[in-house]
Amino acid sequence: MTKRNYVTVNPCVMCQPMGSALAFKGIENTMVLYHGSQGCSTYMRLHLAHHFREPVDIASSSLSEKGAVYGGRENLKKGLKNVINRYNPKVIGVATTCLAETIGDDVAAIISEFKEEEGIGDDLEKDIIIVPVSTPSYGESHVSGYIKALDAVVRKFAGNQGEKKPLKNPNGKLNLIPVENLSPADVRELKEILAATAGDYIFLPDISETFDAPLRDYLPKIAPGGTPLFEIRDMPNSRASLGLGIVSKNLALDYLEKSHSVPGHSVPIPIGLSNTDSFFTELVNILGCPIPEKYQKERGRLLDAMVDVHKYLYGVKAAVYGDPDMVLSLTTFMLELGMNPVLIATGSKSRDFGAKIRQIIEEIRPELKPVILDGIDFDSLNDAVNECSPEILIGNSNGKYISKALDIPLVRVGLPIHDRVGAQRILTVGYRGTLELLDRITNTILEATDTFTAPVEAETTVCAKGTEEECMERGA
Ligand code: SF4
Repeated sequence: MTKRNYVTVNPCVMCQPMGSALAFKGIENTMVLYHGSQGCSTYMRLHLAHHFREPVDIASSSLSEKGAVYGGRENLKKGLKNVINRYNPKVIGVATTCLAETIGDDVAAIISEFKEEEGIGDDLEKDIIIVPVSTPSYGESHVSGYIKALDAVVRKFAGNQGEKKPLKNPNGKLNLIPVENLSPADVRELKEILAATAGDYIFLPDISETFDAPLRDYLPKIAPGGTPLFEIRDMPNSRASLGLGIVSKNLALDYLEKSHSVPGHSVPIPIGLSNTDSFFTELVNILGCPIPEKYQKERGRLLDAMVDVHKYLYGVKAAVYGDPDMVLSLTTFMLELGMNPVLIATGSKSRDFGAKIRQIIEEIRPELKPVILDGIDFDSLNDAVNECSPEILIGNSNGKYISKALDIPLVRVGLPIHDRVGAQRILTVGYRGTLELLDRITNTILEATDTFTAPVEAETTVCAKGTEEECMERGA
């Protein structure tokens, strides 16, 4: 039985404010400011920059010992002023770190004071909008930080907090609100699918350009791209919202449903055959559109590839770890492939995680009895891997130490991926992304088992006129 640590040794999650940056950075002309110590912002900037290979600016209110004792009011105001002067943003996301939460700064009140002093109003079009979000890392993880930041932004821009309002100007659009952990390549793929089916949609947050920008002859202070602010304001007028991810709560989607009567639907992240089928089926149900032929062909190719590689993957024991929704979708895919996920783990504390995983195992391969863990660190994961003896690891690059120590190959999926380039271009969603993932998993297993090292005998063609060599000699 895997032991749980009483202290965390190498967390299998990232800080809560980092999740907020993942959300804020997908919104047009938005700058992030962490209210807390300088080190938090430095660590998270580096973490994101190493993964996305893009410059990631995150300001800090730089609390020192003095701020910790007397409060961070003046630091936060100074930080906000500097951000406005240097970056000229339209939105500033203010996320708290552990220190600011521990000393108990009333961030909303400080922001109100600051706005009054600087003459900043609440006009969503004319004024700079400051969105506070409470993200102490000792509470939860980057998963919840992302969810809370999106919720705060939608509440701010959709307005009418808490009031149930009828649709005013129906726009016929579909809101797409994914969980954290998609790559810019994933977002581009999903936007392409939506353009071919929904036509008009609002994708929040859109990191396709902000975290994967083309090289320019100048470096913009804030990366262009992100969900336009007028679209976020328009979300309450949409015909429906579709959430990607069914384990973590989608607070923004819930808010739009409860307060603005926008029907909310949620499907797993479309990784794997059945999950991608569910995504397309939901689009068809909501929009009444046909599935374009292009995607029907992609589905056929994926199925063909699954049949081709079945002999290599059937029964292979795997350990999968990472964020809850990503792990759920990866597990479903492995079950579809006939693999044996012996260890399924997430660093997030989640009551629903185990139940959802058990449900899909019951539906697809009820005979399997994997170890399912939530809220683990890499030390516990190491113990669990030792006990379960998987033949392959699937998860983020922080698992490489286990991979090296136990000599088990690792397929890098999710966030962070620091020790390889191209994380921002890894496609895992949709039929095409699943196919790419399938090739990566299969080739990793083939490389590990050295399937291709058996020498291939040269074939000699013989026809009625003799062997190929004899024919060539005769010039036949
Ligand atoms: S755990 Fe808290 S103090 Fe440490 S980097 Fe994260 S937010 Fe900052």
